[in-house]
Amino acid sequence: MDIDIRSMTLCELAAAIARRDVTSLQATEAYLDAIAAEDPQIQAYNEVYPELARQRASEIDARLDAGEPVGPLAGVPVAIKDNLTTDFGHTTCSSNYLKTFAAPYTATAVGKLLDAGAVILGKTNMDEFAMGSSTENSATHLTKNPWDTSKVPGGSSGGSAAAMAARLCPAAIGSDTGGSIRQPAAFCGVVGFKPTYGRISRYGLVAFGSSLDQIGPMTADVADAALLTSILAGHDDRDSTSIPAPVDNYVAELAIPFEAPLRIGLPKEYYTDALGGEVRAKLDDAIVALKAAGCEFVDVSLPHSRIDIADDGTLSSFAVACYYIVCMAEASSNLGRYDGVHYGHRTESDVDDIVELFSRSRSEALGDEVKRRILLGTYTLSSGYYDAYYNKALKVRRLIHDDFTAAFEQCDVMLCPTTPAPAFGIGEKTSDPLEMYLGDIYTISANLAGLPGLALPCGLTDAGLPVGCQLVGPVLSESLLLRAGMLFESATGITRLRPGQ
Ligand code: GLN
Repeated sequence: MDIDIRSMTLCELAAAIARRDVTSLQATEAYLDAIAAEDPQIQAYNEVYPELARQRASEIDARLDAGEPVGPLAGVPVAIKDNLTTDFGHTTCSSNYLKTFAAPYTATAVGKLLDAGAVILGKTNMDEFAMGSSTENSATHLTKNPWDTSKVPGGSSGGSAAAMAARLCPAAIGSDTGGSIRQPAAFCGVVGFKPTYGRISRYGLVAFGSSLDQIGPMTADVADAALLTSILAGHDDRDSTSIPAPVDNYVAELAIPFEAPLRIGLPKEYYTDALGGEVRAKLDDAIVALKAAGCEFVDVSLPHSRIDIADDGTLSSFAVACYYIVCMAEASSNLGRYDGVHYGHRTESDVDDIVELFSRSRSEALGDEVKRRILLGTYTLSSGYYDAYYNKALKVRRLIHDDFTAAFEQCDVMLCPTTPAPAFGIGEKTSDPLEMYLGDIYTISANLAGLPGLALPCGLTDAGLPVGCQLVGPVLSESLLLRAGMLFESATGITRLRPGQ
């Protein structure tokens, strides 16, 4: 039988392997061949595990042939972001500091994928320690956007998004602190889901901003995101911030029709001149399609997530200021563990004392953006500035959160842009960190408020670049959001985008 494995969704491939139409080894080989042939142009992966993947696929095939129960992902290959620990291979966070780091344990999320029968293909590139929006802060290499290789894939989960868009994996896992799943998903035309903070265990996710970080899937369509979320979600004793609530059956609940019209909120602060024309046009098209499918639209307001435009065109946003204070403060504390003593890079130069060992090891192996954040984060936490910056940011964070709570009294979910514009050119924003940060205006509020956000492809620009949008819902509304995502796909007909097709 001639089956095009790479054109299948994750759900289709899982079903085909379960039926034994395709073996896990065939599926794994198809992706390993694709990576060998095409990843040199895209450079989505940091590390690929051909031998381990083949061995694992053969084991799963043997178990399936013997009629043993395996799991919902039996034999299906998956790629994971390089900030998830595995007790095989390396976990580098695309940092020179962790270039040779082999973690002694496997992240809960990865363990759950393996328990469900998945085959891990490799680790994907990212901005160093997940700090960035273009994957250009990777210390290893640049990753290209498969839709246009002169453009960035977004970040920080740019490797996962690019691998997914180029179908160098049938699904990938990313992490999202301020948009790092949703923004690259938008730039690469794939689905990216950041669940509620605490829905998926962070154990084994290398910490960046611990009160914001969340793991999630990047897939070809919403059904695949539901399948992966159902596997990844759940309480974990090893992550004290993971939510002890039971996990809904996201896959089965996708089929539940909406009895009353879905009420979709449009935050008026997002639909302004700060939103690029092409993105606005695609969102307007989606709104028309959703109305035709019976959805009701209501205007809502998120005053503390508003974007101010000065006379000279400069953008400013409380949410961006608040996010960058909180995430940098947390990063400065989390990255204190990279001290040149316990693991990772240690300076080889002669040092007089332990303080010099710390500072040289850190100076040599951490990148510029990471250093900038450690310095700024340390500054905002230092005595005298703590109240002026950090405490104030926490108060703004609460106001942003409360705005969402009030808005969800009028709507079930919100339809928002994911990014102000489609993917930008490689090198276009690297000289101006602030401009790079301002690209996150539509994604960070969901992290600050701990809310789930489902990024969906929303069409292509005239130049053929993907445009994204996102549905944001209340805490623990994963099931509703995924159902709304399915409705979006059927109403707009936009799903399973692939470059060149
Ligand atoms: N672009 C944001 C930042 O640089 C978000 C990163 C992320 O979500 N990991 O902090």
